[in-house]
Amino acid sequence: MTLAARLRETLGPASVFEAAEDVIVYEYDYGLDRAMPDVVALPRSTADVQLIVREAQAAGVPIIARGAGTGISGGAVPAQGGIVVSLARMNRVLEIDADNRCAVVQPGVVNLDLSKLAEPYGLFFAPDPSSQKVSTIGGNIANNAGGPHCLSLGVTVNHILGVELVRHDGSVVRLGGKAPDGPGMDLTGVVVGSEGTLGVVTEATVRLLPLPEAVRTTLALFASVDAASAAVSDLIGRGVVPSALEMMDRLALSAIEAAFHAGYPPEAGAVLLVEVDGLLEQVENQAAIVDAVCRDAGAIEIRLAASDEERARLWAARKGAASAMGRIAPNYYLHDAVVPRTRLPTILAQVVEIGQRYDLPIANLFHAGDGNLHPMILFDVRQEGILERVMAAGREILTRCVEAGGTITGEHGVGLEKQDFMPLIFSADDLEVMARVRTAIDPSGNFNPAKVLPTPEHTRTQMRPKAAPSRIPEGMWV
Ligand SMILES: Cc1cc2nc3c(=O)[nH]c(=O)nc-3n(C[C@H](O)[C@H](O)[C@H](O)COP(=O)(O)OP(=O)(O)OC[C@H]3O[C@@H](n4cnc5c(N)ncnc54)[C@H](O)[C@@H]3O)c2cc1C
Repeated sequence: MTLAARLRETLGPASVFEAAEDVIVYEYDYGLDRAMPDVVALPRSTADVQLIVREAQAAGVPIIARGAGTGISGGAVPAQGGIVVSLARMNRVLEIDADNRCAVVQPGVVNLDLSKLAEPYGLFFAPDPSSQKVSTIGGNIANNAGGPHCLSLGVTVNHILGVELVRHDGSVVRLGGKAPDGPGMDLTGVVVGSEGTLGVVTEATVRLLPLPEAVRTTLALFASVDAASAAVSDLIGRGVVPSALEMMDRLALSAIEAAFHAGYPPEAGAVLLVEVDGLLEQVENQAAIVDAVCRDAGAIEIRLAASDEERARLWAARKGAASAMGRIAPNYYLHDAVVPRTRLPTILAQVVEIGQRYDLPIANLFHAGDGNLHPMILFDVRQEGILERVMAAGREILTRCVEAGGTITGEHGVGLEKQDFMPLIFSADDLEVMARVRTAIDPSGNFNPAKVLPTPEHTRTQMRPKAAPSRIPEGMWV
């Protein structure tokens, strides 16, 4: 009996798929790498996940956990085939414990849904990736996701108190819990950011924070990226750590405004979206400093969002920016790198130069407060040979960021996309230690193999959009 047939006996036919036209939607995670799974299973409980893991291990196939498939770096793409375990149906918030300011959730809960459910208690879940309308808590944990409001509040790892993990032999281990600062090694912290290589997260206890009393959102227009970058450094230098500090350049603004009409001025060279929150008096004081610093840095115009609606409109457009890029080109390659904040002007000038040299438009929208760049290389995949140019330009951008004292990923994960870049920032010894930690927790090596750590080319399958062989018959619609 096949793996799919065995799983169907217990999970039922509506929870296990293997036909090419069913599993093709699991070949992709918004990035460039694609590969079809052999089987897709949709568990509803931890016990279902245990069964899937045991059967998959008996069949000796790779096991790839999947949330919403927005990871971009190929983390949820089954590079070597195997079984994709979609956690989409494990999407219940099990408990909101307002007194202890935490919640217990299944991994398929969508990030924004958790904050909406916590709102009546005056609480929210702080990590807010721009994908928060769809990405899941399990995916956020596995990629240690950040977001615009993580500048002052910290990224996902700072908000996870405990996890339940299904291990390689199907056993369940619980790490951490509601009590903060448990004794022993921080194994919860090891699981966060491990990109599905250690097991399947089947439950999480997450920290909730009180909603701020007041929020002020400022949109500051600048003639150039340099002037906006100077304002970023001055602000932090003045001791103001905004809850969010986002920058968008002219090309990004033109697409965002055309798509959303949210009030972003396409004629500006760059804009900063700066948000401060907290107690009312403190917020008024900080908003005044934001205003003064932006003026000193040469802002052409400064607008304070006049209402909650205007604020929501500005954020909806910023968080929807990636889809707006379709106004410029049918495809984009979204990079994710970090540099020390003071190096932003230099790096952004280099990104522009790289774009010109490779004849590729590059839009920039990013978490400026963290120095977390998101250059979006815009292209049309139907153009012969263009992917080689796109990849070469991306490689140069990452190399320049590392040379500037930065790193190769801020929040999207390493996945398939960036494993070859790991030696740029880690020594062979560092990588060896990481491999040993991985093997200690998953001795089978079947959880998300050929990901994160550099893997010899011949042992992985990297497929690019045009080159990907399809199991779908020619001419068939899916
Ligand atoms: C338009 C857009 C904007 C984005 N903005 C941001 C941003 O601001 N900040 C940010 O950090 N990221 C951002 N991302 C990237 C992405 O949304 C995040 O990394 C997110 O956390 C991925 O969640 P997911 O549910 O889609 O995970 P998936 O893509 O499904 O999976 C990601 C990784 O997690 C593993 N995984 C998933 N669930 C589990 C589980 N239960 N147990 C173990 N491993 C698991 C997978 O194997 C894979 O390695 C953005 C992506 C897009 C497309």
